[in-house]
Amino acid sequence: MTSSKTSPSSTWRPATRQLHAGLERTEYGETSEALFLTSGFVYDNAEQAAATFRNEITHYQYSRFGNPTVAALERRLADLEGAEACIATSTGMGAVSSALLSHVKAGERVVASRALFGSCYWIVANLLPRYGVEIEFVDGTDLPQWERALSRPTAAVLLESPSNPMLDILDIAAISALAHKAGAIVVVDNVFASPIYQKPLELGADVVVYSCTKHIDGQGRVLGGAVLGSAEWISNTLQPFTRNTGNALSPFNAWVMLKGLETLSLRVDAMTHNAAAVADYLAAAPGVLSVRYPGRADHPQHALAARQMTGGGSLVAFEVRGGQEGAFAFMNALQLIAISNNLGDARSLVTHPATTTHSKIDAAERAALGITDGAIRFSVGLEDSQDLIDDLARGIAALPSA
Ligand SMILES: *Cc1c(COP(=O)(O)O)cnc(C)c1O
Repeated sequence: MTSSKTSPSSTWRPATRQLHAGLERTEYGETSEALFLTSGFVYDNAEQAAATFRNEITHYQYSRFGNPTVAALERRLADLEGAEACIATSTGMGAVSSALLSHVKAGERVVASRALFGSCYWIVANLLPRYGVEIEFVDGTDLPQWERALSRPTAAVLLESPSNPMLDILDIAAISALAHKAGAIVVVDNVFASPIYQKPLELGADVVVYSCTKHIDGQGRVLGGAVLGSAEWISNTLQPFTRNTGNALSPFNAWVMLKGLETLSLRVDAMTHNAAAVADYLAAAPGVLSVRYPGRADHPQHALAARQMTGGGSLVAFEVRGGQEGAFAFMNALQLIAISNNLGDARSLVTHPATTTHSKIDAAERAALGITDGAIRFSVGLEDSQDLIDDLARGIAALPSA
């Protein structure tokens, strides 16, 4: 764990921060960050090792505890987010599970939005109760439900906005105010908005988690995650947990993420530009029953999206005619856009949530989440938007007739 240091970076804008924040060059003056691919570190003498373990001096000990390349990524992510501190984890799920498991105890309560990434849902629904944590799911867009659920003392709230896969927008400021009255910390999974378009800490949340696998690497190479929050919470609550449970990010993956960060805003802006274009195309296309895109005026929470996000993001959800048969025919007709359940990648990817990412959730719950059999999640990439639209037209042409 490394706290972001006060530096000239405090006045830098995001495009500059993602390139320069938190850089500590070695004596060789390398331009690109050094890759410290090492599991351990050596000491000058036994006294130095002993002093390190007594926390009297700062010295790297072991890469499960900390590594210079991982620390560079943590500093840069903290800086970009406007967080005091960051711990990078081996995956996004490592970030989500550590944030919750380090904070809650048996007998305490967690309230979560029902519309969560599949594995996040599993952690809340299946894992936490096993350890004696009481859980309650709410419809995240329904503030009175949050108010009822948070009328009792609660340890933590978990939410995702925009949510996976149907892109619901949740009111982070209002939910945070209710959660704080109940004594809860608010953990926001900010993957879909990315650090470029939404700042949950400024809206009142306490902890932000990322799957860095998504837009931060963004080029389909490595897995990673990050947890960001106050220096106090990160060092006293999260760090003892991650250090001892072994959720460390590989220095190699951290280095790849640092390279990914350099172009994060460029990629996210270009993908969002494409997403807006394909959402407009799909909304007018025959056989498309509905389109969900936070940047469109017909999104049910468009006004809220405009208030708390600075861009619509790179994901579009839509429903085609013909249920699962229609969705499969549509996807199978695509030649450019690949079928894959990953997202935030430079390449455009589609998935059918009902039979993949959300197939383990029972049908009634899926229906409550608005995931119909004809729903497709589209992670829009960096291709030319006209090529994407031409490919979508192949999908439209393949739909069963009305
Ligand atoms: C992918 C994803 C995760 C999990 O991240 P991994 O890196 O795959 O472990 C968590 N939340 C959301 C919203 C995601 O999209």
